[in-house]
Formats: sequence, C-alpha cells, structure tokens
Amino acid sequence: MAYLLIVEDDELLRDGLAAQLRQVGHEVTTAANGLLAQALLESTRFDGVVLDLGLPLLDGMQLLRWVRQRLLALPVLVLTARDGVEDRVEGLNAGADDYLTKPFNMAELEARLAAMLRRSRLPAFGGSLELQMGSTSRLRLDATQPLAWLDDEPLELTQREWSLLSLLVTNAGQVVSREDVLTTWQSDPSDNSTGGANTASNALEVYVHRLRRKLADSGLSIRNVRGLGYMLETATP
Ligand code: CA
Repeated sequence: MAYLLIVEDDELLRDGLAAQLRQVGHEVTTAANGLLAQALLESTRFDGVVLDLGLPLLDGMQLLRWVRQRLLALPVLVLTARDGVEDRVEGLNAGADDYLTKPFNMAELEARLAAMLRRSRLPAFGGSLELQMGSTSRLRLDATQPLAWLDDEPLELTQREWSLLSLLVTNAGQVVSREDVLTTWQSDPSDNSTGGANTASNALEVYVHRLRRKLADSGLSIRNVRGLGYMLETATP
C-alpha cells in the first residue's frame, strides 16, 4: 500500500485512476489542477505521484520542476498526451521517474507504478540507495555498510557520517530532526563511541559540517532548518 497523489484535470480519467488504484490497495488523493497539487504536496507526505503534464493553473512540467527542488526523492510517473521524443526527454530531464503516453493501458500503469515505488524504497537497488536529481552528482549508499559513492567515486565516511547521510537521503527534501539523527546513532549496534546524549548533540553539528564539505561539488546541500533540523536538497547556485 502506498499514499499516492493523482494530478489530472480530466475528471473521468482522474476518478477512474483513483478508483482503480484504491482497488489494488493504495490510499489515493486527487487534485484537478497544479496549484492544488502543490498545496497538497506542501502539507502531506506521499509515496508517489501520478502527474498529467497538461494542467490548468500550474502546468505539470512546472510542478515537476518544483517537486524536484523541494522533494528530491519523491517518485513521479508522468502521464501525457504529448508523445514526441522531445517532450519525453524534457519530462525525464525535469525529473520524471517514468513516463506513460495517453491513451495507456491500466495494467501497464499499475505495473510501472509498482516498479517505481519498489525502486524508491530503501532495500531496492540490490541493497543500496541512490539519489540523483537534475544536475546533481549521482549519490549511492550501501544500505547496510558505511559505504557511499559520488558519481562512482568512493566517499570516505565514518559510521556516523554514513548513518546521518542515509537518513538525509531517505528523507531528501524533507526535514530530518536532530532527535531522529540522535536516535539512529543510539540504536546503531556498531557505534561503540562513548559519551552521552549531550556529547552526541554537540557532535551532530560537527558531522553535518564534515558531510557538507564532502558533498561540496555534488550539487546537493544540507540546509539547516532553524529549530527543526536538517534537510538535503539541491544546492542553489
Ligand atoms: Ca490534462
């Protein structure tokens, strides 16, 4: 089961998609225009989006670019009546994870959606986690060992840096609280460093600082969200 957002202005298609996806067990929210979808994406956490490109108020391509600035890891399957190669390339460059041209077969949509959701989850990718958005470097983390690569170059990370980075990547585009990081560190059986919660809390800023330096040329940045925590996002040039 996944929490899905369907953004489609054609009422018949929207309702049909929603009914079908609910029937296979998903939790579905719908939006008939780009602005409503944007508001929903700001307030609610979804596992995936089915996005029509031709939309009123805010075009699907603009919405897709906005999603990629804010919610890096959110899987998006694009639906469109445009079937030219250039539109396909533009959609994929703008950050679509997959693409279907209308009219499409419902079984194919379900299969592609399921594959997309599977890929986006942590143990997929054969035990590694990947992140690449727009012009950022491709960041890959092993899901079980403190190993990571930036564009296939190994990143030198300590156990704590790696667990902080995997938490940020898993929640890319969303705030990870200091408490979340500290809890992860405490529950890590391989972390035998000494020092209480206070030491760990002070150390967190040091680790964030180190990670920022290691990601310096990747196009990814770790934003300090005052009072809340940290967020991995695309660096603004
Ligand atoms: Ca449309």
